[in-house]
Amino acid sequence: MKKMALMSLLFVTPIPVLAQPLPCSSFTGIPVPYIPNPALNNVGVAHTMQNGQPVIVMNPNVVGPLPEFVRQFWYAHECAHHALHPMHNSEMNADCYAIKAIRNIGLISNPQQVGFLLNYISTLPGNIMTGHLPGPARAQNMYACFATP
Ligand SMILES: [Zn+2]
Repeated sequence: MKKMALMSLLFVTPIPVLAQPLPCSSFTGIPVPYIPNPALNNVGVAHTMQNGQPVIVMNPNVVGPLPEFVRQFWYAHECAHHALHPMHNSEMNADCYAIKAIRNIGLISNPQQVGFLLNYISTLPGNIMTGHLPGPARAQNMYACFATP
C-alpha cells in the first residue's frame, strides 16, 4: 500500500524543476545565450549585438522571485523574439509561443497554474510603443494559444 501511494504521488507530480532557462535558438539556428543584468529596466529584452549575435538580457531581481513556470514563460517570451521569423515576430506571437513552449514541456499542466499565469499577465499595463496589449487582452490571447495545439 505504501509503495502504491508513493507511485501515485510521483505520477501526479511530473513538473520538472528547471533552474536554468530552456535552451534558445534564433530562427536562423544561432544559439541565444541569456545574460543577467540586475540594472535592466524591464523583466527582459531580446537584443542583437553589433556583431549580429542574438542575446537575451534578463533582470534576475524581477524573474527571481516568480514561480518557475512564470519565470520560464518570460525566458520563452524573450526567446520567441529571436526564434520567430521577423515577419511573425510580434508581442502577441511571442506570448503565444511562450505559453505553448511551457505547456509542451509540461511546466504548466493544471488549471491553477494557467490561472495564476493569466491573472498575473492581466495585471500588466499595455504599452503602445512596445506593442504590448493591455494585460487582460494579452491574457485572452494567451488563453486562446494555450487551448490550441
Ligand atoms: Zn516581448
